[in-house]
Amino acid sequence: MSRILELVGKHDSYRSETLNLQASENILSPNARKALSSDMASRYSLTLEHEGYNAYGGAEYMEELLDEVEKLACEVFKSKYSEVRPLGGHIAAEVVLLSLVDRKRNIMSISEANGGYTGYQNQYLPQIMGFGNYNIPYDGSRQEILLDDLERLLESLMPCLVVLGQSFFVKHYDLRSLRNLCHDHGCKLAYDASHVMGLIAGEAFQPDVLNYVDVLFGSTHKSFFGPQGGIILTNDEEIIEAVRRNITWRAMDNYNPSRLASLGVAMEEMRQYGKDYARKVVKNSFDLAKSLSNAGLAPRFSPWFTETHQILLSETSLLNLGTNFEGFSNILERNYIVVDREGRIGTSEISRLGIDEVEEIGELIVSALKGNDVSKRVKEIRREAKIHYCEVVE
Ligand SMILES: *Cc1c(COP(=O)(O)O)cnc(C)c1O
Repeated sequence: MSRILELVGKHDSYRSETLNLQASENILSPNARKALSSDMASRYSLTLEHEGYNAYGGAEYMEELLDEVEKLACEVFKSKYSEVRPLGGHIAAEVVLLSLVDRKRNIMSISEANGGYTGYQNQYLPQIMGFGNYNIPYDGSRQEILLDDLERLLESLMPCLVVLGQSFFVKHYDLRSLRNLCHDHGCKLAYDASHVMGLIAGEAFQPDVLNYVDVLFGSTHKSFFGPQGGIILTNDEEIIEAVRRNITWRAMDNYNPSRLASLGVAMEEMRQYGKDYARKVVKNSFDLAKSLSNAGLAPRFSPWFTETHQILLSETSLLNLGTNFEGFSNILERNYIVVDREGRIGTSEISRLGIDEVEEIGELIVSALKGNDVSKRVKEIRREAKIHYCEVVE
């Protein structure tokens, strides 16, 4: 047997036994997985706008697919325009920045220390594209942007774009005030919703975001349960035209049509079940945070804890229990619970699997930290779980 297939098989059966609490991940439905491995996985479709024809043959259904998925995305996010080809959230960010930021200008984003995305730090995307990034003033203890301080910086730095969004993300933004501040200073407002895309689609978090921001973008595989990819949404015709100009041969060439097919299936599922799913995710993360807290591992921001799919731990609270972020992840991994090594816990995937026992999961996590082996019960919970919010395939 192929060594590679052997590894794939081992991975699949290992992960099917674990409870995945990784905030950046989710699980695909059987139909979305099927679409991902279709014949389209090795095909091209590239419509050349100026020439008015496809550079490749045999692409009829893929052309139709691209149109359909764009329409579905507009429906799900209630946007006028959508761009579904970016290969990831990072590429979507790159395309948005290419489209809205001129060289030598400035952007502002939330610092890494406050949970902002690493890609916006000066040595990454800004350096490649030749502009500067400055931190949005932020109160970490309340998880809020400091609007007065921001206003002063908008005056002195004159950025052309403010990018909201965090990778460590538990609280909404005051979008109305931010929009007014930015627009009063001739600055556009963008929202990198990579982590919360599924919650926005399901209207459980900042559902009206497109009424305030000029452009919304992010990953399609974190709280949004699609295949790995990126998406850009806007109501602004000029922005979508600039975005379209910056896709082919600037940020990427092929867009992986099978990924797009899979995203389309996830969009259909989100359209039908998104509200129930997103509500469940947010409820589960709050309930899990409360349970952890009751069991002796208080997450940050008690008593409200979170408004999203994420719970954030403080390293100090783990040090009190004799471990740190890495140790926490390692201990849980031995007990078939998967979390990242940065202190985030996410409830998207367990919610999609219809798991309601979050109170017990909180207790199991703390019990494992105290040195007990909880793997048997963890595997049992996982074994009994079944994928929800999609068509049942027997
Ligand atoms: C995860 C993340 C990205 C990158 O997304 P990919 O889909 O992995 O390319 C960008 N921005 C934020 C805020 C993220 O959390």
